Amino acid sequence: MSTTATTPEREVRLAASVDRTIRLITTGKAAGETCTPDLAKGPWEFDAGPAGYGPGSSMGDVIPTGSPRQGALPAEYREASDAELHDRIRAAKATLGEKVVVLGHFYQRDEVVQHADFTGDSFQLANAAMTRPEAEAIVFCGVHFMAETADMLSRPDQAVILPNLAAGCSMADMADESGVEECWEQLEEVYGDLAATDAEGRVPVIPVTYMNSSAALKGFVGRNGGIVCTSSNAKTVLEQAFERGQRVLFFPDQHLGRNTAKAMGVPLEQMPMWNPRKALGGNTADELADARVILWHGFCSVHKRFTVDQIERARAEHPGVQVIVHPECPMPVVDAADAAGSTDFIVKAIQAAPAGSTFAIGTEINLVQRLAAEHPEHEIFCLDPVVCPCSTMYRIHPGYLAWVLEELVAGRVVNRISVGEDVAVPARLALERMLAAKPPASVPVPAGSTIAAATDAAAARSAAASSPAPAATGA
Ligand code: SF4
Repeated sequence: MSTTATTPEREVRLAASVDRTIRLITTGKAAGETCTPDLAKGPWEFDAGPAGYGPGSSMGDVIPTGSPRQGALPAEYREASDAELHDRIRAAKATLGEKVVVLGHFYQRDEVVQHADFTGDSFQLANAAMTRPEAEAIVFCGVHFMAETADMLSRPDQAVILPNLAAGCSMADMADESGVEECWEQLEEVYGDLAATDAEGRVPVIPVTYMNSSAALKGFVGRNGGIVCTSSNAKTVLEQAFERGQRVLFFPDQHLGRNTAKAMGVPLEQMPMWNPRKALGGNTADELADARVILWHGFCSVHKRFTVDQIERARAEHPGVQVIVHPECPMPVVDAADAAGSTDFIVKAIQAAPAGSTFAIGTEINLVQRLAAEHPEHEIFCLDPVVCPCSTMYRIHPGYLAWVLEELVAGRVVNRISVGEDVAVPARLALERMLAAKPPASVPVPAGSTIAAATDAAAARSAAASSPAPAATGA
């Protein structure tokens, strides 16, 4: 495990810190704009307020009733200085040793990522946790669905901990189980028996869910012959789904579904949107009969911020710039970019570029700013000039990390995320179908400061497919 930064690493981290950028902007010490001054507050200020995603990209999204809330963070963590929190985190990790593994998502603030044993995307991190079988606790510095996936892929005796329970995901929340079940019933009215096959052995519709969805949705998909995908393997998964089904119901992210299907040659007119508030999702039975991909009305508020105007401005101001965006961006943005791909794709493209390259990146600013700090040989900037991090990733702060780790030192597990077997068994089936279709290209990025090249994930995937079932222990 690596937690102590060398001096050069610390300098890189300071330069990479979005928190520091926000503080400088909101105190008038640096030029720039944030999407809200509330970003300068401690996230605990929002734990006690009305339910909401908090400041950042999702602050305008409607949070579902009953979303998990975080109780008050003890004052000793709220009031501690940054330096004290970092010392306490390092001390707790040293005491716990191999008993704990800390995972940090690419979009997590640098002040948290510097304590992570692994950084990566959600599925890379779930696989990374499996390389630490001796760990009794997996502290997932990401969002709720990621911790659920880690719990489903880890051993029953390993506790998965989310440092702030309010760290949900607005996009995952846009597709809830009851809405999807209702959609499924309406599709049955249109298509008839959803288990009946045509002359080519294909059922009427295969449900496909993005990894960024709740365990309950993954369970629904698993129970109904469907499959999970990541942004790395969405095309492969859709190809596999089309072998078994006449069409696909894709959720929760309409943009990933549309961008992927369009690249495969599916006409836009055969991709109706399903609005869960309307009968037949707002479509006619004829439109649904002709559909190849039915897109759920969901989106990521981080990636929705990117626009074609921003791309045009980047090209005007930086001749020769390469524009790379995430496929969760709207279709016109993906079409206008030079390339689109997952976080792993973006990281590798930058690593492979000749020195002196210029990149405008369309993804979450914590990753973009870290890449810029780690690759001084390139010019790298975020397409969106306004600093607006993912609201829910923002809810994790070193104060919460220090709290959950010190609770572990005291022999207490707080904020455990557990998925019951009734959900986990079919959800794992949907994940295993994805692994069988074609696994994602890579896994864990070893900790330290560098976003390293991804490594072969075969062993971890194999372990995932055969991992024992986790216990239903309750949250
Ligand atoms: S970046 Fe988007 S999809 Fe990822 S956690 Fe934030 S809101 Fe959810």
